[in-house]
Amino acid sequence: IELANQIAAGEVVERPSSVVKELVENALDAGATQLILDIEQGGSKRIRIRDNGGGIVKQELTLALSRHATSKIQSLDDLEHIGSLGFRGEALASISSVSRLRLISKPPEQEEAWQAWAEGRDMQVTVEPAAHPDGTTVDIQDLFFNTPARRKFLRTEKTEFSHIDEVIKRIALSRFEVGFQLNHNGKSVRAFPPAQTEKQQLQRLAKICGGGFAEQASAIDAVDGDFHLSGWLVPPEHCRHQGDIQHFFVNGRMMRDKLLSHAVRQAYEKYLPNERVPTFVLYFELPAEEVDVNVHPAKHEVRFHRQRQVHDFILTRIEQALKQLVA
Ligand code: ADP
Ligand code: MG
Repeated sequence: IELANQIAAGEVVERPSSVVKELVENALDAGATQLILDIEQGGSKRIRIRDNGGGIVKQELTLALSRHATSKIQSLDDLEHIGSLGFRGEALASISSVSRLRLISKPPEQEEAWQAWAEGRDMQVTVEPAAHPDGTTVDIQDLFFNTPARRKFLRTEKTEFSHIDEVIKRIALSRFEVGFQLNHNGKSVRAFPPAQTEKQQLQRLAKICGGGFAEQASAIDAVDGDFHLSGWLVPPEHCRHQGDIQHFFVNGRMMRDKLLSHAVRQAYEKYLPNERVPTFVLYFELPAEEVDVNVHPAKHEVRFHRQRQVHDFILTRIEQALKQLVA
């Protein structure tokens, strides 16, 4: 079992930031509104995430550490309508097989907190009482301690942490209503309080994309049938030479998709000064059954069932918005 899990781990966990991504997605799936991340030594020493979500009941802790034990797909039909972020049911088991992982949880409806961990060849799970407020903590120490080849592949502490920071910034951009705290080696690095009002959202935007972006960007909000495009566009004359802020989220996931970037680029083309690139943070929502998110295993690419309509909707709406901005 341990080996099977370690092999699976190769697909899910490439480096500390991929662990962080999986754990944060789990916490969000559990309805958490506040996440605290404590990272030590770029994540290779420790990654600890505490959330205030729905928790895991005692009887399900063992299951949560087992492979393909996802609670998120009930039937094949669900595969077509994946609403939650995680759905493969192997992240925790995989990470647990290549680290020292402890899962501590207290669902609000349960009196006590319990902790669980798996160890040994057969990944035997131990469950013990614990102290914990409502919610879940996943505490991971010594990532890749038993897979030296992978451990050797890790870059410097600084580089690994910057990947983690990127993951958190991206997710914080997609979930304004959730609060995030990121600490590294005991120091606070990011603090994003929950942002409800437009002003609070702009404050978070400034922290993540820079004050310049937040000042220059103009909001867009367009609906056509069940397509919804929202977010912020930087007016063409303020766009920069580098495309460092080109964030596109589809149904809450960050994407690097050719169809989408093409539509945005084409919309900007007419107005953009030479050698500048579009600068934007955009959110596109459409019914889940109109998108396949499994095109790419890292889930950065999507396939739309109505490709043409999606492309033209985004193109024309951004074009309209830019026209007003330059006028
Ligand atoms: P998946 O997310 O694909 O279902 P994971 O291995 O990531 O698989 O998680 C296994 C299960 O553990 C989840 O389905 C969920 O039921 C539970 N779980 C994991 N993390 C949390 C959390 N932070 N809060 C509540 N439940 C969690
Ligand atoms: Mg998951």
